Amino acid sequence: MKQIILVKYGEIILKGLNRPIFEDFLVKNIRAALRGLSPEITKAQATTYIDLACEADIPEAMERLSKVFGIVSISRAYVLPKEIGAICEATPECLLEDLSLAKTFKVEAKRSDKKFPLASPEICREVGGAICEKFPHLSVDVKTPEKTVMVEVRDTNTYVYCNKIKGPGGMPVGTNAKALLLLSGGIDSPVAGYMTAKRGVALESVHFFSHPYTSERAKEKVLALAKIVSAYTGGMKVHIVPFTNIQLEIRKHCPEEQLTIIMRRFMMKIAERVAKKNGAIALVTGESIGQVASQTVEALGVTNDAVSLPVFRPVIGMDKDEIVERSRMIGAFETSILPYEDCCTIFTPKHPNTKPKLDKIKASEELLQVETLIEEALAGVETIVIP
Ligand code: ATP
Ligand code: MG
Repeated sequence: MKQIILVKYGEIILKGLNRPIFEDFLVKNIRAALRGLSPEITKAQATTYIDLACEADIPEAMERLSKVFGIVSISRAYVLPKEIGAICEATPECLLEDLSLAKTFKVEAKRSDKKFPLASPEICREVGGAICEKFPHLSVDVKTPEKTVMVEVRDTNTYVYCNKIKGPGGMPVGTNAKALLLLSGGIDSPVAGYMTAKRGVALESVHFFSHPYTSERAKEKVLALAKIVSAYTGGMKVHIVPFTNIQLEIRKHCPEEQLTIIMRRFMMKIAERVAKKNGAIALVTGESIGQVASQTVEALGVTNDAVSLPVFRPVIGMDKDEIVERSRMIGAFETSILPYEDCCTIFTPKHPNTKPKLDKIKASEELLQVETLIEEALAGVETIVIP
């Protein structure tokens, strides 16, 4: 029996007259995610139908679809004719594997073709009866069934399935503007990127790299994290900024307790330039209030002052264990905890200033050739495209 993938979406449905725009983005992103699997994609009635050239690719396709924002559920469905006798005969066969292991089940029917001669409760009764006949060990449990058999009678076919995996929700990437993620090698920034992309924002990343104080392997780790995030964003550019000289200059000329905060302000200023050059209109960081000395409210204020673009901090109110949970969920955690140094972990002051004053920090910055340092760093940017 022919099998396809049914994809359902959530919040897009609420978009009224703009809904087709959102649907088109979703289809475009699905197509990109299924690259190489030759999908035929059609949409109707808040559902996207995906017919792959090769049914053996369905599990791989479902795995990839579980990272496409905008999708709320994904099911592997059997395509049956719109005739109740045929539906009753084929359903137990199609769902053999699932139903022979279960003890309880129920049938739910949806009849979007109102011309179909049976109403939904009648479809449930007929199909339920056919299943009980074939699997006498099964009993019906309408409240907490182990398996729910869905029968959807739609325009041209009936679709039957009993397994549904959750999609990531959110809005299709590209339905909102582009932002630039400050991506470190840590746990927080990949999660911040994921959370921003989830709302439909396209992303590019910037990484500050302090060679030789941070190694090639640290860079590879960041690129591995970028790849994990890019599975949700449909590819991503990563701009690698040489940062060593700036750090050395700060260390040479500025008070030790201000090193981190001045470095953070440089990062923001450079990120803003990279953003503007690449059409991004906001910055995203993985900062969380109070997590480290540079993330006190005072320090965040001084950091924020360095730029005029809006800065999104989606994990601002999350505890570390909540961020870790999300990091595991998106598949980044194991990579994030690989033990390579980050540019923030070198040159850290012993007693960082947790309540920096903007005027004092600005006065220290006067001791540096800020503009020249920024321009030199920008001239050395290396851009890597993750497909
Ligand atoms: P993370 O897990 O994201 O590394 P963290 O707790 O280590 O977070 P910091 O090192 O203070 O925090 O950095 C705060 C934020 O600044 C990061 O979440 C990230 O957005 C940005 N950032 C830090 N280091 C870098 C870097 N080397 N390149 C790009 N962005 C960075
Ligand atoms: Mg970090």
